[in-house]
Amino acid sequence: MIEIDREELAQQFASDNNAGICPEAWRAMEEANRGHAASYGDDPWTQRAADAFRNLFETGCEVYFVFNGTAANSLALASLCQSYHGVICCDQAHVETDECGAPEFFSNGSKLLVAPGAEGKLTPQSIHELATKRQDIHYPKPRAVTVTQATETGRVYSLEELHDLSAMCKRHGLLLHMDGARFANAAASLDCSPAALTWKSGVDVLCFGGTKNGMAVGEAVLFFDRKLAVDFDYRCKQAGQLSSKMRFLSAPWVGMLESGAWLRNARHANACAQRFGAQIAAIPGIRLAQPVEANAVFISAPEPVLERVRSRGWRFYTFIGGAARFMFSWDTDTERMDAFCRDLKECAAGAQ
Ligand SMILES: *Cc1c(COP(=O)(O)O)cnc(C)c1O
Repeated sequence: MIEIDREELAQQFASDNNAGICPEAWRAMEEANRGHAASYGDDPWTQRAADAFRNLFETGCEVYFVFNGTAANSLALASLCQSYHGVICCDQAHVETDECGAPEFFSNGSKLLVAPGAEGKLTPQSIHELATKRQDIHYPKPRAVTVTQATETGRVYSLEELHDLSAMCKRHGLLLHMDGARFANAAASLDCSPAALTWKSGVDVLCFGGTKNGMAVGEAVLFFDRKLAVDFDYRCKQAGQLSSKMRFLSAPWVGMLESGAWLRNARHANACAQRFGAQIAAIPGIRLAQPVEANAVFISAPEPVLERVRSRGWRFYTFIGGAARFMFSWDTDTERMDAFCRDLKECAAGAQ
């Protein structure tokens, strides 16, 4: 046994990827570990996982498995664009703020065209402005739009909003990509089908996040327009994203999708965020910086209060979305969460 300080193992709410692997994903990995299987995706697990996605999304989409979200987003966008194209995104989009230029790198130069986002969301108007800003040869030609669902600030685009965004995309001949690192949380929040949230709303490509949903590693890239997936396998291989033991990337999805854990996990995380948000909102001097719609809660509190909570051993980030961010996951312990709320309440009242 590796000895680890118990304090280190206590739950924090700094990120939803601080959580471990959920039982359904773990069990499927274990089953995939019994015996040998063909490599590079020619195995029964990968076939079954891809079919589970087609089943869940009620359509014959093309499905690929990669290691992480940065690769999923970057390679998906690269497949929509030529190097001289532009991709419209919100200024708070992960592709813009947290991927170290990977979308531009993997597309050999396609430029992100950044819209100032009200509440971290793209609007049809902002798409229209960027799509029509320049028509000349000296500016990158807008080709795609990327939206994050749920957003980096824990917001969810309604079906109506998605419909309006996609109508604007169609008007300007733009393809629509969805960064779904927290797609499950959005689906749980809206309580609508994955199909309604994606291809039925005009989404061409979805990156569906597994890691924050309860897997060890892995995201799935779904092309609803199969023509856009031409040669995507080569793109993945060249980028170092083709797993030779693919079954360990794909089997956990079988566990997640066939058991419904993907949605249960997201519902639990969202419910925890609601409960946490309600307690926080009741503390004098503290307010919610964003409405709680998925599995994130953003808190505005005076810096000395945050310092006091930190000194009680709580860890969280303040550089995302301009407030203290708390994320909930499939295994969030509500007692631990309530303990945080009690600590924050005491700290806000001036206690050390
Ligand atoms: C976490 C996250 C990703 C994926 O990030 P990786 O660290 O590359 O797996 C992508 N988009 C959003 C909005 C995220 O929160």
